[in-house]
Amino acid sequence: MKRITLGISILAAACGTQREVVQPIPSPAQPTQPAAQVTTVPLLVDTITAAEITARVAQFAPATLDFDDRTLAPWEKQVLAKLVEASRIMHDIYTVQVSPQNPAWRAQLAAQEGDGKEATLEYFDIMVGPWDRLAHDEPFLEVGPKAAGAGYYPADMTKQEFESYLAANPGEKDALTSYFTVITRDGNNRNKLVPVPYSKYYHDHLQRAAGLLREAAQLSQNASLADFLRKRADAFLSNDYYASDVAWMDIANSRVEPTIGPYEVYEDHLFGYKAAFESFITVADPAASGELDNLKGQLKELEARLPMPDQYKNVNRGFESPIRVVDVVYSAGDARRGVQTIAFNLPNDERVIEAKGSKKVMLRNVMRAKFEKILTPISQTVLVNELAAQVDFQPWFINVLMHELAHGLGPQGVNKTLKERHSALEEAKADVTGLHNLTVLAERGVYTPDFVRKAYIAHLGDLFRATRFGTSEAHGKANLIQFNYFMEKGSLKFDNTTQRFSADLDALVRHNRELATEILTIQGLGDYERAGRLITQYGTDVRPEMRNAIAQLNRVPVDVKPVHAVFDKMKTW
Ligand code: ZN
Repeated sequence: MKRITLGISILAAACGTQREVVQPIPSPAQPTQPAAQVTTVPLLVDTITAAEITARVAQFAPATLDFDDRTLAPWEKQVLAKLVEASRIMHDIYTVQVSPQNPAWRAQLAAQEGDGKEATLEYFDIMVGPWDRLAHDEPFLEVGPKAAGAGYYPADMTKQEFESYLAANPGEKDALTSYFTVITRDGNNRNKLVPVPYSKYYHDHLQRAAGLLREAAQLSQNASLADFLRKRADAFLSNDYYASDVAWMDIANSRVEPTIGPYEVYEDHLFGYKAAFESFITVADPAASGELDNLKGQLKELEARLPMPDQYKNVNRGFESPIRVVDVVYSAGDARRGVQTIAFNLPNDERVIEAKGSKKVMLRNVMRAKFEKILTPISQTVLVNELAAQVDFQPWFINVLMHELAHGLGPQGVNKTLKERHSALEEAKADVTGLHNLTVLAERGVYTPDFVRKAYIAHLGDLFRATRFGTSEAHGKANLIQFNYFMEKGSLKFDNTTQRFSADLDALVRHNRELATEILTIQGLGDYERAGRLITQYGTDVRPEMRNAIAQLNRVPVDVKPVHAVFDKMKTW
């Protein structure tokens, strides 16, 4: 939940049914093409043709990520330029975190000749490595499977070996399981595992990055920004990130909002211990941030008005996490691979969250790019014209935020009792509760009824976007539950004439609230059986209407490929 990519963290996009059929390349036996000519890049796995890899690249629609630099002061632009440079270093570190062989493989690929070379290089760059993140990390180059522990552990180390070693060496547990160490083998004793701090393992890279952060701090006329940059530079070299995480929470009144360093552990499929380097260099929109920040003042009331029995409500919890609306200037490392993040919630360090809370950052220009390239064509394909014409960015943007805020409302900590049924239910809860909250906010005059209507309509498009890549993963299942529920109740209807979906919006608001009541009550009771009944009844069957609709979406891109406008802009700075 810390990072939101638009609910396609697990994808079956490589399954043939969901992608356009690609034309095979001309047979090499044709007289115009000498047999000796290389037709595909030799490194490609032989079941993947040049046309296939080109089609995979085409799943990512190029999207320019722009931001408003007209109101930035000269010093702010200089700081941004330094941070972009530091971000490139983050990307280099991340590349070897994914696999230490990545730089060599890429160089090898670049030196080859043959059809599909450019597409293969591009796909390598999108995926940051030779494994397809849209296809369960299957390799598209002849390099073998991806190590579960990525580049964080010795390639030949098993889970079992690490666990046994940990049990035999309890005193080293903290260092071995630290977010910020790479595990290596002792040169003299191969059975001995040695945790090496990032500050040492990536020393040269981090020293250069620290230098750039200090130069940026020197240029900064905002003291809180300079403080973060200096403390993060220190952390790169000391391996202690606490003080700089605190300073990141304290960045105030700054247009420049950088997030840079090791954060998420998704790349470590072995244990989820090791943090990947990344950066989101962004420019904040203070007016939009202030507007959303005001929503914090509504959260207590929203908790009180959740459609569930009062005994499960908690109006006394803290509702203070700041919300920032930003535009991405540059992203790198873990923040740029594969499917693009649209919002995040950091830091992850519980000690910092305890002391300072966490910050929700909404990446507006990334969201806009996905809205235009993905959600809009999906809505136009599956919804009747009258509805599709009302799908607007701002209501959708607020709806995504409401989903995020809704995770923090209602019964908490029920994952232990609802077990494997929890995550789909929690995602469904965030959707339906978020929509319900918008209705409440309309009653309180925060949003107009028209705006809220449009948010509901945009959500209908989202139901198809999220179920498109399968319903086994939490987001897909959560959306299938809603779709089937609304279809059964009749607020969502399939129109045989147009072969698209229409909706009775008044009924939809009501049915959405009823579904919210059921899910929140299941969570309040911690009722594992009842959760199972809801999932069986609504989260299992994909109706033929839905299946047909999804089949029509194969021309819509899976995601966007960021094209950062900053490099053109920098020429004029
Ligand atoms: Zn969610």
